[in-house]
Amino acid sequence: MSDGQQADVVVVGGGVIGMAVAWRARRRGMAVTLLERDALGAGTSRVAAGMLAPVVEAEFGDAGRRLLELGLRSSQLWPGFAAELTLLTGTSVGLMHTGTLLVARDDDDARELERQLAFRRSLGLEVVRLLASEAREREPALAPTLRLALEAPDDHSVDPRLVLAALRFACESEGVQLREQTPVVRVDLDGAGGRATGVTLQDGERVCGGQVVLAAGAWSEQIEGLPAHAGVRVRPVKGQILRLRDPAGPGLLSRVVRFEGGYVVPRGDGRYVLGATVEERGFELAPTAGGVYGLLRDAHELLPGISELEIEELSVGLRPGTPDNAPLIGRAAVDGVILATGHYRNGILLAPLTAELVVGLLEGQPPGADLPFALDSMLAACSPERFRAVGVPA
Ligand SMILES: Cc1cc2nc3c(=O)[nH]c(=O)nc-3n(C[C@H](O)[C@H](O)[C@H](O)COP(=O)(O)OP(=O)(O)OC[C@H]3O[C@@H](n4cnc5c(N)ncnc54)[C@H](O)[C@@H]3O)c2cc1C
Repeated sequence: MSDGQQADVVVVGGGVIGMAVAWRARRRGMAVTLLERDALGAGTSRVAAGMLAPVVEAEFGDAGRRLLELGLRSSQLWPGFAAELTLLTGTSVGLMHTGTLLVARDDDDARELERQLAFRRSLGLEVVRLLASEAREREPALAPTLRLALEAPDDHSVDPRLVLAALRFACESEGVQLREQTPVVRVDLDGAGGRATGVTLQDGERVCGGQVVLAAGAWSEQIEGLPAHAGVRVRPVKGQILRLRDPAGPGLLSRVVRFEGGYVVPRGDGRYVLGATVEERGFELAPTAGGVYGLLRDAHELLPGISELEIEELSVGLRPGTPDNAPLIGRAAVDGVILATGHYRNGILLAPLTAELVVGLLEGQPPGADLPFALDSMLAACSPERFRAVGVPA
């Protein structure tokens, strides 16, 4: 679909968001070309822990409320999304219905958990208060010094690497044109600058498309061509994360455990993900001793058995954060450009919903007519228009 050939849709970026959008758009009959500057799935998505945790992630404030609504809806879509991928590929994407424990290691943490409990209950979210002894009955590996815990029974997890592999397979088998090692430098506009006509690659090649979806994660702001008022406001937020393995096999932990400053996500096969730092350091990707030390220190205090695990991998990813940390999904100020970026800490969780929203926009119809909830209110919650006003602080 280059130099004259025309795709219906050109997707820039082959992470969980770009591939989910490309797959769903192709399924609705559109001719889709996806351009990835590296290998598919080589960006932030492969680093993610894979928590589907709207309840635990719920935050105070307006943006927090909007994000909660998006997260809860996407969480409802996940079982069907995972089942479709499994049907296509014949392999699991590691969706585990384990629930999540939020644990307090001292009195300060316990007071904070009580506040979080009251907040979540005020929103009607299901959260159960557990005494330390009850938490340890559920997860005996937790330290006896534990003070209090909350259980969010509906917060689950997937394995993002299995999801990425499945999405790649799904895109390939449905006929998405996938191009790796293909960096995009610019969105091209028509002479009047009012409508997108495609994109230009680093080597000068033009890829024409009726509509362009910008899904380049933390790098979305680097793509040239869009006016400042298009509302692309994305910054990288560094996260360091460890992948651990228990040589004795599974059994240390069956639920996701979260604590002040981190989490441990079991994969069910003796592997665990311990994350993650949250650092504002631009595009720097170096792992640091301090980052790893902090993660292991905090986790060890609550889960002493973690020190027996083998380290399989230390990785670093860049979360695509927006000024209010809610995603940017919607039409840019230029016709034919749709933003699907800024998913910050929740891109895996929000992938199925994002794909539905974007495909609805691509079709120019009220999105999600076949879904049990109104997606137009979801679109309003993540509209790029909120950053178009002059003077919105970064
Ligand atoms: C440590 C860590 C833990 C996380 N844990 C979770 C979690 O438990 N649950 C959850 O929901 N989310 C989690 N996240 C967040 C999640 O990983 C992100 O929100 C999500 O991966 C964003 O997906 P994406 O497709 O937008 O970005 P990416 O996966 O980064 O994909 C963007 C792609 O665009 C490509 N690209 C960039 N520039 C160009 C260009 N010019 N031309 C062509 N291609 C380009 C990149 O190479 C990349 O492959 C975590 C993130 C981190 C860092």
